[in-house]
Amino acid sequence: MKGFWLTEMSKFNFLRDNYNINPKLLEISEIAEKELYEQFVEIEKIAEYNQLKVLKAMQDNRLSDVHFAGSTGYGYNDLGRDTLEEIYASAFGAEAALCRPQIISGTHALSLALFGNLKHGDELLYITGTPYDTLKGVIGIRETRNSLMDNGIIYSEVSLLEDGSFDYENIKNAINGRTKVIGIQRSKGYSLRHSLTIDEISDIIKFVKNIDDKLCIMVDNCYGEFTDYLEPSELGADMTVGSLIKNPGGGLAPVGGYIVGTEECVENAAAKLSSPGIGKEAGPSLGITQSFTQGLFLAPNVTAASMKMALFTAVLFEKLGFSVTPKPCEKRGDIVQAILLKNAENIISFCKGVQMAAPVDSFVSPEPWDMPGYDCQVIMAAGAFIQGASIEFSADAPIREPFAVYLQGGLTYHHGKNGVLIAVQNMINDGLISI
Ligand SMILES: *Cc1c(COP(=O)(O)O)cnc(C)c1O
Repeated sequence: MKGFWLTEMSKFNFLRDNYNINPKLLEISEIAEKELYEQFVEIEKIAEYNQLKVLKAMQDNRLSDVHFAGSTGYGYNDLGRDTLEEIYASAFGAEAALCRPQIISGTHALSLALFGNLKHGDELLYITGTPYDTLKGVIGIRETRNSLMDNGIIYSEVSLLEDGSFDYENIKNAINGRTKVIGIQRSKGYSLRHSLTIDEISDIIKFVKNIDDKLCIMVDNCYGEFTDYLEPSELGADMTVGSLIKNPGGGLAPVGGYIVGTEECVENAAAKLSSPGIGKEAGPSLGITQSFTQGLFLAPNVTAASMKMALFTAVLFEKLGFSVTPKPCEKRGDIVQAILLKNAENIISFCKGVQMAAPVDSFVSPEPWDMPGYDCQVIMAAGAFIQGASIEFSADAPIREPFAVYLQGGLTYHHGKNGVLIAVQNMINDGLISI
């Protein structure tokens, strides 16, 4: 009996008996995984390099047990907080970092970066087209209280070209005497363009700096961290910004955002986070430094698991007759996998299946709702240990054309892969796909 549980067959039986997975689906899944062997090896190489980068940053900054103590109140002289920020700066190859629990999300970090570095009359130029939904509110493209535009900041944007590449000519034409910050969004957000690769980001930074090296380049790095050998901050971006409940938190950070970049830009953002005259000096770490540092330590590996899950999903859904972006063969700039599910019914069934596969709240069923910050209904499946953490296996979709679902995360590849199978099985059970 014991030996039985040690065979590959036991996994199939387990999935069949407990999750009712169709044997034909399992067969397709095994074929999909075999096709990905070489790409998985490449992902592991990137993870290994990034693991070393993070390790060295911790050693160079002499991370120690005492740093995990935490502070309360003003948090003056919080050595753990300061060391964590030095580690972030080192790991991202930047001069300075702001990384703390007072930053509640990626949107908040981006908002601080922008408000801290733009004054009345300055212009923000986004060169990757209209940014991610919540940024529309920050900027004032969607009417909100106290947006950048409300505060006299000028906004303009240059779209990416049809093929998803930068529109060099129009970017050059758009830059003028008032232009202060150039915004680059690495990840696709809720769109179907490809996510920028680190090579594309490197080229555009050189191009912009060549026009005017005083321009401040901000990269929205959400979902992009550790997916490649280098980060935008190592390629000359003045600010690289992201969320700790995505890649760099490694699944352990319970909240947080980061900004890494030049001393000047980071200090400007810090003056907005706390207040002018206080900047980085105050802000209690509240005992969170251990999860932030340990999460960062695990982040390269967790990101690799997510990348593998995304690739597996891409191959599987192509075999099921859906189109996906990125395609399995494309170079990836983030952990997000979009699947064109064609209609709302498919999206809802898939998301319900993702939720069923979660370790937390697997018994609840997600529904589309009017989420703050978005201008249409959004469905989100995230049975996560950390509320809303999208480095954990999760799917979300705005209920609008072209009915694409965005799938990401997975603290382990094994969970992500089998989670996808459970979600596909739910669509089969709902009579939406047949195999
Ligand atoms: C997730 C994300 C953000 C920030 O979102 P939060 O939910 O506020 O953390 C910003 N830009 C992009 C491209 C994102 O994917």
